Amino acid sequence: QLRSPLRVFEKLESEVRSYCRSFPTVFTHARDYKLWDAEGREYIDFFAGAGALNYGHNNPKIKEKLIEYLMNDGVTHSLDMATAAKENFLKRFYHVILKPRGLHYKVMFPGPTGTNSVESALKLARKVTGRDTVISFTNAFHGMTLGSLAVTGNKFKRKGAGIPLNNSISMPFDNYLGDEADTVNYIERFLEDNGSGVSLPAAIILETVQAEGGINAASFQWLQRIEEICRRWNILLIVDDVQMGCGRTGPFFSFEPAGIQPDIVCLSKSIGGYGLPMALTLIKPEFDVWEPGEHNGTFRGNNLGFVAAAQALSYWENESFSEEIKAKGERVRVFLEKLVRQHPEMEGEVRGRGLIQGIAVGKDGLAEKICAAAFERGLIMETSGANSEVVKLLPPLTIDEAGLNKGLQILEDSIKWCKK
Ligand code: PMP
Repeated sequence: QLRSPLRVFEKLESEVRSYCRSFPTVFTHARDYKLWDAEGREYIDFFAGAGALNYGHNNPKIKEKLIEYLMNDGVTHSLDMATAAKENFLKRFYHVILKPRGLHYKVMFPGPTGTNSVESALKLARKVTGRDTVISFTNAFHGMTLGSLAVTGNKFKRKGAGIPLNNSISMPFDNYLGDEADTVNYIERFLEDNGSGVSLPAAIILETVQAEGGINAASFQWLQRIEEICRRWNILLIVDDVQMGCGRTGPFFSFEPAGIQPDIVCLSKSIGGYGLPMALTLIKPEFDVWEPGEHNGTFRGNNLGFVAAAQALSYWENESFSEEIKAKGERVRVFLEKLVRQHPEMEGEVRGRGLIQGIAVGKDGLAEKICAAAFERGLIMETSGANSEVVKLLPPLTIDEAGLNKGLQILEDSIKWCKK
């Protein structure tokens, strides 16, 4: 039996509230991979702010820098004026992330959240190409504002707009039609049939692993072929790395192992380091065509975000960080494979890459039941997928062995309990 959410939420907050229904308690404290509620219960966090807390809650190294900055009356709000905090972040982002990877991008601050980055990418692609449609994919998730929602492949979310959304052509993602179907060939055929040039799309937008859409990982070869199509037809390639970036799949950018170089990259969530709102849009220099003021906003410069983000990048100065993430991911994967074998009644399939892993289960409502049972036992997890059919594990990347083991044990206990 779940505890009911506190009455104040029911009375005051709009009906649209969602996560507080899945996790019906009031949280008060958080550290590393743990959260505590008002009743003093402890929870292991395998949700990590939907990917915004890759470095854990209240990461001590980052907290220290934030406190120091506040104690020295550092500038907090500055629109997009130049500040020392911003300059420091940009320098570090260049030296720690872009330069070692041989990547040439201009950095744009599109606003505070992931959807702001996606909106800016879509808008820029229109301006650069003079075209207005965008190819997106089945089960994609890119955000909740009008443009990003138009490229989000989720009926329920789109219903929120009330009327049909324009300018998006949805194509089957890798493996959406099974192993055999050549979805890239399908896109190519579509482009050839519409190839007068007038109706060519401005961009193709994709996630390398569809996180909200059910943990669907595109193969590297599929990504390479999509890039080829973009080059051949002069279509911009936008990679939305809002959730898969900042190391979630192992490397800093999720597209690195595929060897592709998107024209525009969207980053948010963990780029802010401490769960602070921050977003970046990385733009190939030749597409940095906006004139000053053509795209601005009040919260483009969150200096606390810059301070936290600059410090978070020190994890990436350590070459073993990415390997550690992959090793942890492998450990989770082996555990999940074992659970699936031991519980054939789940009709489970393990999915994931790096430290986004999950089990797609065959029975309706079972993934939600497992997550609810886990919450009661002190583990926070969410489902993903169009029908909430996937139990999604998204621990902070910095989680230690003990935390990982404890969370996995609770997951196993919850699955056993659901079997009864
Ligand atoms: N893109 C992806 C891939 C995401 O996972 C999300 C958030 N779940 C967004 C965009 C939107 O980000 P935000 O909620 O910060 O607007």
